[in-house]
Amino acid sequence: MRVLVTGGAGYIGSVTAHLLASRGHEVWVYDNLSRGHLDAAPAGRLLQGDLRDASRLAAVLREKRIEAVLHFAALALVGESTQRPQWYYSNNVLGSLCLLQAMQQSDVRRIVFSSTTAVYGVARQVPIPVEHPREPINPYGRTKLAVEHALADYARACEFSVVALRYFNAAGASRLFPLGEDHRPETHLIPNALQVALGQREHLTIFGQEHPTPDGTCVRDYVHVDDLARAHLAALEQLQRPGFRAYNLGSGRGASVREVVETCRRVTGQAIPVRIAPARPGDPPLLVADESLARRELDWSPQNSSLEEIVASAWDWHREHPYGYRVAPPKRPGRVE
Ligand code: UDP
Repeated sequence: MRVLVTGGAGYIGSVTAHLLASRGHEVWVYDNLSRGHLDAAPAGRLLQGDLRDASRLAAVLREKRIEAVLHFAALALVGESTQRPQWYYSNNVLGSLCLLQAMQQSDVRRIVFSSTTAVYGVARQVPIPVEHPREPINPYGRTKLAVEHALADYARACEFSVVALRYFNAAGASRLFPLGEDHRPETHLIPNALQVALGQREHLTIFGQEHPTPDGTCVRDYVHVDDLARAHLAALEQLQRPGFRAYNLGSGRGASVREVVETCRRVTGQAIPVRIAPARPGDPPLLVADESLARRELDWSPQNSSLEEIVASAWDWHREHPYGYRVAPPKRPGRVE
């Protein structure tokens, strides 16, 4: 299939783009490189552009005769979204609406959307099923929910085939391709802990230890990036029928921040000192997936998502790429940007 991967130079998008290409699909990446990395996209397949550039997007869909879109491109940091909501509404909501319009004009009606556990807000029941009420508590989650609504309406009114994949915490580095997690600034738990193990940070900050969880730190469901990429292949196959379908992608198991840090210590053999800071605004205490619908309908199951394998794969990648996709250290020593 000829597939456009928006955000295919980013963390999950790049692994998925490589996987699709390796399975014989014709893949084009559309990415503005604001957060993505040139070297992460499959070679020769990057079309640099912004979703909000409607005429360029329409031209790409037409010229490459695209049949389906995997839509990863978005800003995806909870903390940043609470401080800069305007970036999130513009990139995530406006950008997605431009994409949908361009798709409709070009008669491309198949789309897999990168949604998120953040659409659920504070879990009323755990593990969280797909039909759990969607009551996001931060702007990031609200922008993703807004796009889900738009997609469901396009599915109803314009015969779009939509699969929304609600990722829990994407983590680990690919074992299939030399691709890993490199956000600037890095805010995610596992890469931050591994930067301490590499001597690039002095300590890890734990955000809050009085959450209503067994050890007081937040519980998340970490799912390996290769498992997420495989789910997209399965979702593509589902796009034969019009309609809107949503699936949770997680391991079904929760791990607290302290458990993750312990695993990082074990895997790296390093001490990883921690400091406690106040809870991060917009952070729900407990998020664990009920991923049974994805298992049933997508015939998908997480293969690499034990915490041990997630951390081990990330550690291997970070040791080989201590500056991520850069070849040299960042300009300000002691600070990974
Ligand atoms: N976290 C932390 N210290 C860090 C980064 C994250 O304590 O340096 C916590 C964060 O509060 C959350 C969990 O680790 O409870 C996972 O955060 P991450 O940013 O990796 O993903 P998110 O859940 O925000 O998508």
